[in-house]
Amino acid sequence: MRRNVPEGISVGMMTLLSDKRRGQGSAAVAVTCQAYCAYYKGEDGEDGCGGLAAIKRGLASGRVAVDHIKLLVDVPPGPARKDRVLTDKMCARCSYLAGGCDFMSPSPPPGATPCGGYRLLLALLDKGALTEDEVEAVAHDPGRRTQDAQ
Ligand code: SF4
Repeated sequence: MRRNVPEGISVGMMTLLSDKRRGQGSAAVAVTCQAYCAYYKGEDGEDGCGGLAAIKRGLASGRVAVDHIKLLVDVPPGPARKDRVLTDKMCARCSYLAGGCDFMSPSPPPGATPCGGYRLLLALLDKGALTEDEVEAVAHDPGRRTQDAQ
C-alpha cells in the first residue's frame, strides 16, 4: 500500500548525506526511501529491499557519490519504466520479488511504481551521473542468489 508522496531530494537531505560525522544509513534512507519511494512508511527503511541495499552498497563503495546525488536535488522522481539492468541484476535478487513488489508483479496494479532505490538508480542513469555499467555494478549484489536459483 502506498503511504508516501515522493518529491525528490531536498537540500536538507544532501546536508545529512554530506555530514561525515554521521553514519550514512539514515541519509541513505532519506534520499532513497523518503525522497523516491511511494511505499515508504516513515521508518528506517526496509532491510529486505534490494533497491535500498543497492544504494547503501553504492554509497559505501563510493560508486554512488554525494556529487552524483547532488545532481538530482529538487528533481522529482520520473516515470517508472522497466530497465533490463535493474530488473536482471537487482530485482532478480530482491526478497520482495516473489509476491511483495507491485511493480515487478506479473499482473501489476495500475500505476505501480518500483521502490526508491530502483527509481533513484534510474534517475542517476537518465541524468548521466552514472553509466549503464556503473549502474549494473551497483545493482548487482554478489551475496544474493536470484529468486530463480533458490
Ligand atoms: S523494484 Fe521491487 S523487486 Fe525491484 S528492487 Fe525494488 S522492491 Fe525489489
